[in-house]
Amino acid sequence: MAGTASVDTFASELVPRFADQGYDQESVALRREWLERKTESRLNHIGSFSVPSEEMKGNIENSVGTAQVPLGIAGPLLVNGLHARGRFYVPLATTEGALVRSYERGMVLLTRAGGVDTRIHVDENCVAPAFFFGDVGEAHDFGNNLLSHFSEIRSEAEATTKHGRLLRLEPLVEGRNVIVAFHYFTGDAHGMNMIVKATDRACGWIVANLGAKGYHIFSGFESEKRASAVLFAGGKGKKVTAGTLVPAELLKAYVRAVPAQFVSLWQHTMLGHMQAHSVGYNGHFANGLAAMFIACGQDVGNLPNCSVGITNFEATPSGDLYASVTLPSLNVATVGGGTGSGTARECLAILGCEGPTQAPKLTEIVAATLLAGELSFAAAIINGELVMAHETYGRNRPAAGDPRAQYK
Ligand code: NAP
Repeated sequence: MAGTASVDTFASELVPRFADQGYDQESVALRREWLERKTESRLNHIGSFSVPSEEMKGNIENSVGTAQVPLGIAGPLLVNGLHARGRFYVPLATTEGALVRSYERGMVLLTRAGGVDTRIHVDENCVAPAFFFGDVGEAHDFGNNLLSHFSEIRSEAEATTKHGRLLRLEPLVEGRNVIVAFHYFTGDAHGMNMIVKATDRACGWIVANLGAKGYHIFSGFESEKRASAVLFAGGKGKKVTAGTLVPAELLKAYVRAVPAQFVSLWQHTMLGHMQAHSVGYNGHFANGLAAMFIACGQDVGNLPNCSVGITNFEATPSGDLYASVTLPSLNVATVGGGTGSGTARECLAILGCEGPTQAPKLTEIVAATLLAGELSFAAAIINGELVMAHETYGRNRPAAGDPRAQYK
C-alpha cells in the first residue's frame, strides 16, 4: 500500500536501542553516527561533551550527546534574604544578545541601592487528580467526608518518600467528579516525580476505601507547566517576593530615568496587559527564568507557571522608587531533576546553592535576579533604548552576504 512501509523496513527507521538503554559512551556514539547517516548531517558539536554519558541516565533517553548554550555571568547582586545573603554572580545561559548586559545593569543598580530584600511565603508543590463517582450524590458525600480521612491518606502518600510531606487536601466538586488538590512540602527537590508517585499510591487507597470508581492522576487544576489564575492562590511551587527602595539619584545615574517615569510606564503597560487578559503583570520574567533554568539544570517545562507573577513600581513620598516582584508559583530545586551533574552543578556552585538545604537560597536569588531584569527592561523602554541595545549586543544586523541582509 502506498505510503505504508513494511514492518521490516520501518524497524530501520526506529532510533537504535541498546542493552541497559545505551548510556555508555560507545552506544551514544553509535546512535549519533546512525543519526548522521540518516539525516546526512555532521554532529561534531553535539558529540563533544565532558559529562560522563552514564550520568545522563534518568534525565534523557536516546542520548546522542549534549546541546550547548552560551553561558554569561551577571553581577554583583546583593541579596538581603533570609536564606540568600551577600553578593552573588548569576549564571545565565541564553542566545539572546543584550540579555546578560541588561540583567547586569539592574543588578549593579540594586546592589548600589543597598541590595534586594527577599522573602519566601509558601513552599509547596501540588498534584490534583480527578476522581469519578456514579452520581452527584456520591461525589458530594466524598467531598464532604474526605478530610476526615486525612491521616490515612497522608500515611499512604508519605510511605513512598523520605522527604515529601503531605500538608493538606482541597476537594473541588464538579458534577459527579471530584478534583482533589494534594499539597506537599518537597524539601530541596522540585518534587513532581516524588509527589506524583506519592499521590498515585494515595489515590489507590481512596479508590479501595472511599468509593471512588477511578481517577486520573492529573486533572489540569494543578497548573503544572501552564499559566493560570489559580497560581496566584499559592501552593504550586514557591511563592517569593523581592523588593528594593531605589533612590532617585541612583536611578538617574545608572539608568537615566526618574521614579515618575517608571510609574507612568507601569500604568500604560498595565492597560495593555488588561486588554490581553494576561495572567499577572511583568516585563519579561520568562527571560531571566529561562536563562537561569538552563544554566542551573531546572525544569524549563515549568516556565509557563513560573513566569506568572507581578512587577510593581511605586513612587514613594521621599521621591524615590519602590520596585518589587512577586512570583506565586516558582519551581526551583537544588536536588534531583537536572541539578546533579555537569554544567548545572557548576552553575549552582557559583551561587553556593548545590545540594541539600539550598533550595530556599536559590529561590531568593532567582527572585532578586528577576527584579534586576524588570528594572533594566523598564528603563530601556522608558529611554527608547531597546532597539539600540539589541543592535549593539544582539544579532539584529545580518553580516554582508547573509540572505537576511536584503531585508535591512
Ligand atoms: P527526582 O530526581 O525524581 O527525585 C528527587 C529525590 O531526591 C526525592 O524524591 C528524594 O527522595 C531525594 N532527596 C534527597 N535529598 C533530598 C532533599 N534534601 N530534599 C528533597 N528530596 C531529596 O526529582 P523530583 O524533584 O521528584 O522530580 C523532578 C523532575 O520531575 C523534574 O525535573 C521533571 O523532569 C520531572 N517531572 C515529572 C513529572 C511526573 O509526572 N512524574 C511531571 C513533571 C515533571 P525521597 O522521595 O525518597 O525522599
